[in-house]
Amino acid sequence: MLDAKVVKALTPLISRYYETADAFAPAETEKREFGFGDYEKKIAFRHYAFKSEKSLRKYMVDNAPPFASYSTAFYQYPDARPMENKKLIGAELIFDLDSTDLKLPCQQEHGRDWICEKDLNAIKRETTRLVEDFLIPDFGFSENDIRINFSGNRGYHVHVNNSDVYALDGDARKEISDYISGTGIELQAFFPTLGLKGAKLEGPKPADSGWGGKLARALITTLNGDENALPSLGIDESFARTLSKKRADIIFGITTGNWDRVNIPKKSEFWANVLKSITIKQGDSIDKNVTKDMHHLIRMPNTLHGDTGLIARKISSISALERFDPMKDAIAFKEGLMNIKTGRVQKFFMDGMQFGPYENESVEVPLYAAFYMLLKRVATL
Ligand SMILES: [Zn+2]
Repeated sequence: MLDAKVVKALTPLISRYYETADAFAPAETEKREFGFGDYEKKIAFRHYAFKSEKSLRKYMVDNAPPFASYSTAFYQYPDARPMENKKLIGAELIFDLDSTDLKLPCQQEHGRDWICEKDLNAIKRETTRLVEDFLIPDFGFSENDIRINFSGNRGYHVHVNNSDVYALDGDARKEISDYISGTGIELQAFFPTLGLKGAKLEGPKPADSGWGGKLARALITTLNGDENALPSLGIDESFARTLSKKRADIIFGITTGNWDRVNIPKKSEFWANVLKSITIKQGDSIDKNVTKDMHHLIRMPNTLHGDTGLIARKISSISALERFDPMKDAIAFKEGLMNIKTGRVQKFFMDGMQFGPYENESVEVPLYAAFYMLLKRVATL
């Protein structure tokens, strides 16, 4: 439970944020269902509907909810219940990418509830890969169809908005999700002559579309990179050295689709590892459901995240994602200072400044850093 004193201090500040916050109402507001959270549950109340940005904003100012979400679906009667009475019209396609699903080694050091720069950079790369390696080339979506929002804490939400997508049913959504996570890929299919005596081993070329091209390009990137990257794909060190020495010859082979030059022992383990390195980690079933489940509610862009006080910032374009720094660009409470009592807090960076490490200290910090520590439950008032 978040301390009642903390809730009392933060609520008027959240309310004030919503008086002037950048536009947050989704397109076609009147067809969306809304849900709001408290400090314990991200969605504690749902089945709300609003006619306009103005009435939605009034609700946010009056109630200062720590979390605000909306349906990626459009409904005829968004506040009706049960769900089937809402009358589904269609739904955006969404992907929820969360850095904890990447299971980086640093997470063991700082714990699942904390997040460091490495996690934030890795999930940004993953988001870029989803868009640039999958959604645009493989599904043919255009940049204009794709919206990226920072989640406000540990990841990004990618929305695909176009009328073709709205009509997709749950099965079609699952297929898309399976494709990007590499589920059900038969590696054999990319090597049609595998096991045929006397035949040249034909394999995918880097220019191939879909997964074949991705596999060929991933191997070339790995070979061109550091020798140390090969063991992570299940290749032992001495063979990694051999591969590195024959690099130019092997790459020429892959480029022309002649895989006889690529003689890899433990092939299936190797390829499974290559595959794993390029699939998009949507993590556990919950996040796959985000894509599949049309009734899902997702964070409203430009609203606050109640575990950090950061803004679930709308990113203006795919290229702007590269420069986006959440611990700077998503800061809400730029003005003012607050006194807090810290517990044990690992160092972190916000707005280019280092905070901590702290160990049971009374400190005066900028309001945004106070919000961050209070909501991460590593400080009190
Ligand atoms: Zn980390």
